Amino acid sequence: HKLRFAIVGRPNVGKSTLFNRLVGKKLALVDDTPGVTRDRREGEGRLASLQFSVFDTAGFEDVVDDSMEGRMRRQTERAITDSDLVLFLFDARAGVTPLDLAFARLLRKSDVPVVLCANKAEGKEGQIGAAGAWEIGLGDAVLLSAEHGEGMLDLYETIVDRL
Ligand code: GDP
Ligand code: MG
Repeated sequence: HKLRFAIVGRPNVGKSTLFNRLVGKKLALVDDTPGVTRDRREGEGRLASLQFSVFDTAGFEDVVDDSMEGRMRRQTERAITDSDLVLFLFDARAGVTPLDLAFARLLRKSDVPVVLCANKAEGKEGQIGAAGAWEIGLGDAVLLSAEHGEGMLDLYETIVDRL
């Protein structure tokens, strides 16, 4: 079957920005306000010679009548069962947060290959923040700048390695 990748992570780490870059269209809504992705968006992505379906998840902010943890768990579980590989983003500028660690715990429990991505890693500040990735316990992070298109070749090589 066609490869399917999911992009997961807490709100505002740049999931939709990465989705847009992989798909090459402004399909997902990007906003400075956390939680603007209303639903799951799927598109045909491309990275070097690799073609795949990719879906952008809302984080866990799209349903209001449930606990944050319940929403996060369901979305992550769906991403895990529906995908061949998960791109797990954290924000290198903000550093690793307790919510990132909660996502990481869910992902570590599954067998799905996970590529940890330190996004917003452009510049010195981003590179310093990306070094905190060890705390997540999912291996080395790929340093990305989804906004500026940096790190895409590393991302490609790491994905191919993990599949
Ligand atoms: P999502 O909630 O995880 O889908 O995050 P978005 O893609 O909506 O991005 C949240 C904010 O982070 C927006 O203001 C983006 O412009 C910004 N952003 C995304 N990627 C990068 C990046 O690589 N570097 C920087 N500095 N900002 C980014
Ligand atoms: Mg989004």
